[in-house]
Amino acid sequence: ASTIKLQDIDPSKLSITKTKTPKELVPPNELVFGRTFTDHMLSLEWTAADGWLPARITPYQNLSLDPASCVFHYAFECFEGMKAYKDKDGRVRLFRPTKNMERMNKSSARIALPTFDGAAMIQLIAKFAAMEERFIPDTRGYSLYLRPTMIGTQRTLGVGPPGSALLYVIASPVGPYYPTGFKAVSLEATDYAVRAWPGGVGDKKLGANYAPCILPQLEAAKRGFHQNLWLFGDEEYVTEVGTMNMFVAIKNKETGQNELITAPLDGTILEGVTRDSVLSLAREKLAPEGWIISERKYTMPELFEASNDGRLLEAFGAGTAAVVSPVRNISWKGNLVECGLRPDQEAGEIAQKMKDWIESRQYGDEEHEWSYVV
Ligand code: PMP
Repeated sequence: ASTIKLQDIDPSKLSITKTKTPKELVPPNELVFGRTFTDHMLSLEWTAADGWLPARITPYQNLSLDPASCVFHYAFECFEGMKAYKDKDGRVRLFRPTKNMERMNKSSARIALPTFDGAAMIQLIAKFAAMEERFIPDTRGYSLYLRPTMIGTQRTLGVGPPGSALLYVIASPVGPYYPTGFKAVSLEATDYAVRAWPGGVGDKKLGANYAPCILPQLEAAKRGFHQNLWLFGDEEYVTEVGTMNMFVAIKNKETGQNELITAPLDGTILEGVTRDSVLSLAREKLAPEGWIISERKYTMPELFEASNDGRLLEAFGAGTAAVVSPVRNISWKGNLVECGLRPDQEAGEIAQKMKDWIESRQYGDEEHEWSYVV
């Protein structure tokens, strides 16, 4: 029997239909995260018989899906979150898009959705971002949030691998996460629910991972906390904060050396692009100053002890939305674990430096291979 090779994404086959009713721009200071969208969207259909069909850029519009589509019943959905930035010369830049495409392929493969050529998809996303250029304010801190999404579209209630899928990308102009400068957050350690577990899918960006996380978030908010901190196991390992990776800076008990710690990629942690960027910058710039950079497990009792000894220097979350989000304290077992900030201080030194270093590569102030000019 002969096998026909399924078609992968071919950027040269892109068709473009421009909107006839361009949207009015929302004033930058009125932008709310993920509320307004650009004029167009990028879509690609996939079928098990043919592979990836030619990509289309069309006016932003509703999807029309059969109520039996498998995405609605069995959560065949994965997504990405990435941003396009405008540099000082008005050029549009993506930040480490290869990482997002690699992660999306891992996510889709895990839920039996199709994989694709990441480099080809980046070309299409670049084309799309360039088309929506007028929506990206050229002020520092602003960007265009890009949301690649893949859904299983097969019309069936049978539980099985989807025979058809839709990959689409929408874009939302966003303002700075902290418009008036850093604001350190207070966390509640969640002890009655877990986000992810060994052998599970916590390291994949599946929509199904997010809906169950809202309730603990609401519970934390009810008690006055900005975010919840996800722990795991009897040891109370610190894993992630809300939808960010967690970092702590500690003075080592034995050696007195400064150590920047984040949880290892053991399958329960999302492989954050920002996490990877923080680690790589830390190895580049902090290690030579004597810092130890550790991807290792660490626990709430360890943080509690370090805080009491005055060795917990700072803590911060890291993710695409905020870049870094400094943590003031963590509520845990009736204690408020202070994370090294003075009352008048909103960010530690490392958090501040990381934000500056990363942004300078995102906005192209520093020419770097992480930045992809569209
Ligand atoms: N953890 C979770 C659970 C997330 O949803 C995100 C956001 N994608 C992150 C960490 C941070 O990842 P990134 O730096 O790629 O945005």
